[in-house]
Amino acid sequence: MNKGKDHYLEAAKRSAAWHKGHIEKMKQCRFDTIAVHGIYSMQEALDFNQGSIIEPIYMSTSQAYRDSDEMEAALGYEVPTWCYSRIANPSMYYLEGVLALIEGYQTGHNTSCIATSSGMAAIHSAVEPFLQVDSKDPNRPINFVGTSQVYGGTFQQFNVRKDHERNIEWRKIVNSNDMSEWESKIDENTRFLYGEMPSNPGLAFFDLEKVAALAHKHGIVMIVDATVATPALMRPIAFGADIVVQSVTKTLATSGSSIVGAVIAKNNIVSKWGPEEMKADFCMYLKALPNRDNGPNISPMNAIMALNDIRTVRSRIDLCSRSTMKVAKFLETHPHIEKVDYLGLESHPLHELAKKYMVLVDSEHDEIYGEKVNRFGHLMSFRVKGGAQAARDVFDGMQRIWRATDLGRIKSVATIPAISTHSQQGEEGRKLADIPANLIRLCVGAEHPDDIIADLTQALEVLDGKKIKYTSPEFSAGGASSATLAR
Ligand SMILES: *Cc1c(COP(=O)(O)O)cnc(C)c1O
Repeated sequence: MNKGKDHYLEAAKRSAAWHKGHIEKMKQCRFDTIAVHGIYSMQEALDFNQGSIIEPIYMSTSQAYRDSDEMEAALGYEVPTWCYSRIANPSMYYLEGVLALIEGYQTGHNTSCIATSSGMAAIHSAVEPFLQVDSKDPNRPINFVGTSQVYGGTFQQFNVRKDHERNIEWRKIVNSNDMSEWESKIDENTRFLYGEMPSNPGLAFFDLEKVAALAHKHGIVMIVDATVATPALMRPIAFGADIVVQSVTKTLATSGSSIVGAVIAKNNIVSKWGPEEMKADFCMYLKALPNRDNGPNISPMNAIMALNDIRTVRSRIDLCSRSTMKVAKFLETHPHIEKVDYLGLESHPLHELAKKYMVLVDSEHDEIYGEKVNRFGHLMSFRVKGGAQAARDVFDGMQRIWRATDLGRIKSVATIPAISTHSQQGEEGRKLADIPANLIRLCVGAEHPDDIIADLTQALEVLDGKKIKYTSPEFSAGGASSATLAR
């Protein structure tokens, strides 16, 4: 005998009320507690997950239902369900829950989150709902205004996939700190404003409060890629942003075992563009409709791997920021270095502005600091005197710092953006983004900073004519290396 659909609707109501209460309780906690526990509770562990203290990885495509009534209610989105893992999955839900809470922490807004298979998928998901053709006027031009100093992949997505392929004009802001430039590029066909801050790798920064206010004056949303800062240093929603995108792949999921993205939005966004149904809860809209149909979902395994790293983001970014500062100060006085770009250095033209936005969350409640302290993250870049070849020689001399197109890792990683992350956008695009060929991007990990300084010291000695001793992989401690086996 079926229990009837009402039975399931009633049960869902009770469950939703319990979860809401639990989330409200979590919101009373400090950042670290939220990052560690997220929305996963002891009650949920004991009642549904065999007491598992860590959020389980639900490697299952789909959910079974007790009867046809439950199935009907679930697939009609009348009761919370995860039905099919392209749309939702409990592991994905735990990740989304924690990201929504930490990004919304002390912003005064209710937030929600949708996790995606990559940061690029998050950017795509966040901007597409605003780029729909106007059905009443299909030939009306479409544009969006955004900073030109963006991650290389974002540059390609905006410049090639939208601008070139679909005639959606990307109006590039060259100096994002010049309010008149923002103002002059917005018109009645502008769908949203977009900014990456701090930018990767140039660390461009803008006065978000003012730019977001400008967006709202025009009835459009402000979207911010805050990957480099992480919510432990900056929460754009507190300064007026409507939607935040994160490449969780980077500092948030520092171990480097998964590619993960996320969109986090405040509830009740105001936009003169886009479908009405997206406004109350933007991320829930993405989940239930466009992302259901387009399918850029994250795997449950990657969701929990990322979640495990996020728990310690605050103390980790504090440590890595302090180390980066030490390395930046060392490089700043080095005779072979032309220039160091790090927002933490007083010499950086945007240092004062960055101080307003980049604060270690809860530092005023930290027993060591007891007051608000600025932290500027672990991304920096430096330009080597002597041009492109000199930069390559120094880069090739690094023995502890890994040469890879990556950042945010627990291990120090360096890259030359002109020949890697930013190679596709060409000379012109790189000039716009201020990425010369002698620029090395360095992201300082959690090693002791003295060892990173020692590695840079010896690598820079190539410019004094010293030969770097190359340690052949044949002598590596790991026994037979791939190089030996390849013989
Ligand atoms: C890496 C990165 C992205 C893209 O994220 P993926 O997870 O690699 O797809 C977007 N924005 C910034 C600032 C990034 O550093």
